Amino acid sequence: MNKTAEKERIDEMIEAIIKVSRGDYSAQVELSGRNDEVDSLAMGLNMMVDDIRTSREALQESEEKYRGLVNNVKLGIFRSTPGPTGKFLEVNLAMKELTGYSRKELLQMGVSDLYVYPEQREQVLEEVASAKGKTTKELRFKKKDGTGIMVSTTGVAVRDSADKIQYFDGILEDITERKRAEHNLKERIKELNCLYGVASIAERPGITQDELYQEVANLLPSSWQYPETTCARVTINGKEFVTENYRDTKWKQSADVKIHGARTGLVEVSSLEERPEIDEGPFLKEERVLIDAVAERLGRITERKRMEEELREKNERLDAQNEELQVQGEELMAQQQELIDKTREVEEANRLKSEFLANMSHELRTPLNVVIGFSELMADEVPGKINNEQRQWLNDILNSGRHLLNLINEVLDLSKIESGRMKFGLTDISLADVIQSLARTLVPVLTPRMQSLDIEVEKRLPLVHANEAKVGQVLLNLVDNASKFTPEGGKLKIEAVRSGDWCQVSVVDDGIGIRKEDQNRIFEPFYQLDNPLAKEKSGAGLGLALVRQIMDRHGGRIWVESEYGEGSRFIFTLPLATTS
Ligand code: ADP
Repeated sequence: MNKTAEKERIDEMIEAIIKVSRGDYSAQVELSGRNDEVDSLAMGLNMMVDDIRTSREALQESEEKYRGLVNNVKLGIFRSTPGPTGKFLEVNLAMKELTGYSRKELLQMGVSDLYVYPEQREQVLEEVASAKGKTTKELRFKKKDGTGIMVSTTGVAVRDSADKIQYFDGILEDITERKRAEHNLKERIKELNCLYGVASIAERPGITQDELYQEVANLLPSSWQYPETTCARVTINGKEFVTENYRDTKWKQSADVKIHGARTGLVEVSSLEERPEIDEGPFLKEERVLIDAVAERLGRITERKRMEEELREKNERLDAQNEELQVQGEELMAQQQELIDKTREVEEANRLKSEFLANMSHELRTPLNVVIGFSELMADEVPGKINNEQRQWLNDILNSGRHLLNLINEVLDLSKIESGRMKFGLTDISLADVIQSLARTLVPVLTPRMQSLDIEVEKRLPLVHANEAKVGQVLLNLVDNASKFTPEGGKLKIEAVRSGDWCQVSVVDDGIGIRKEDQNRIFEPFYQLDNPLAKEKSGAGLGLALVRQIMDRHGGRIWVESEYGEGSRFIFTLPLATTS
């Protein structure tokens, strides 16, 4: 082998090595096929280059994979120099998305340039430096476009062998959304808490309206962002309820309290210090929603309380009225009892009176009968002749005696009936018969007065349940009165008709009649009116009283219908016989 050829092959190998060192792993050295030293050297070189290439490719592949991982995660990863003015040394792709700055821009910036409050940086570094492992903090960052974001930063200090901090590595996570959701949730809970608080204050038994408004005012600040520097005032119908720390400031949020659309009050929440402007002055839009809701609820609660109050007052009034009524009722009952007692007393006195009268009349009758009897004997001239004057006087004695006897008999009858001592049985009788026989006995009474008596009895008039003698007495009394109070030639009439379960009998005359005011009283004992038709007084005013007593005992009724000067109609009823 010549030297030149050998030199060429070695040069070829050197060239390949240079290529490899430049990163070109395609370099390969041709073999001579001579199988000499140089060939084996070239083979070794070729194998080495192959090895380097494959391992280089594997490394590249895994590097790419790793880079993809680091860049694709949503987490920002960075390395920075230590110290408060620490600069970014390396950042991943996600950092661009997170901050809005390009990688190039970031690498020229200090970490604290991203902080909203740069002064926090020192504290963060301190914590990271003193921590054994990593520490996590939540910070407010501002993006390139000025918008704020919340980040969670986890930092770790990377130290050299002398434990000196070489740089800080950090991972950033954008937690703005999560924070917003958390914040919203917190606001919502605060709002609910506040409204629940208002409702439970309103429901507290016995709470007055003033207490209610005061407590609502006290409750409000705690639901606002900065309770310690927030105060509240509730004004209802001109009355004010304020928190202890209340002060009128210009940073204020308010809502009207309305009842049926009419403004009746105001809810106000004020900040005691100036704060950065957010949604509505220094207040959040959630706080606007809340104050509106509180005002709306207060309106409804006030209206309800007013109605409850009214109802309570009404009830109280009713109770008072009830009480009064009860008292009146009791008084009435007492009066009624008194009346019952009095009536009983009167009844008892009446009974004693009747008893006395009955006894008296009985005692009077005996001697009177003697007077009448002997007068009659003398008038009949049994003991001897009498002259005309004596006869005249004897007749006067007899008339007066008989009148008196009649009177006494009536008194006796009345008192017997009233005291319940007169018993009479009731049977089924024919009224037509009683009326007919009475008409006959009355002929001698009516004829001298030229009075007529008509009888109109309904055909097939049923029997009545009565005492024949007493009914006869009643009729006689009524017809006798009719005759007495009717001028000569007058017309009298007896009518009898059925009316339901009763028989109704009327005694009618066309006589002098009775004034309205006397119509009831004539049934009282001894009540008499002057009779312009009679020369002398007859009767004692007991007839109608007796008649009424007899009717009562029959369960019937008697009354009069009369027109003064035109005549009267006395009507009585008797029960029909049960068999009819
Ligand atoms: P007297 O014994 O006076 O008839 P009564 O009790 O029978 O007593 O009647 C009371 C009074 O009623 C009579 O005094 C009379 O004024 C009045 N009276 C009764 N019947 C009639 C009648 N048919 N017409 C007018 N007045 C009558």
